[in-house]
Amino acid sequence: MKGDYRNGICNKCGEETIYGNDGNEIGLCDKCFDNLGYQQIGYTGEDCVSCGRNRVIKFKNGKKLCEKCNIDQKTNDYDPIWMETGGF
Ligand SMILES: [Zn+2]
Ligand SMILES: [Zn+2]
Repeated sequence: MKGDYRNGICNKCGEETIYGNDGNEIGLCDKCFDNLGYQQIGYTGEDCVSCGRNRVIKFKNGKKLCEKCNIDQKTNDYDPIWMETGGF
């Protein structure tokens, strides 16, 4: 759940951490989550391949996901990592 701060152990680096507010349900510290490249860069201006709405967000890691239906524009399916964070 977004905005849910809590203590935990990062699943990747094992550091004790406070999970951030990035919807970080996959149990990574902010640093490891950032390393996955799920920082939003902005709208692509393209229509979503699934729902047709002009709400596709580009991420730093190159992924393009629809803000409305969460569908990955490349695979036409949900991005498992992003969905584990709770999606948009
Ligand atoms: Zn970590
Ligand atoms: Zn969509």
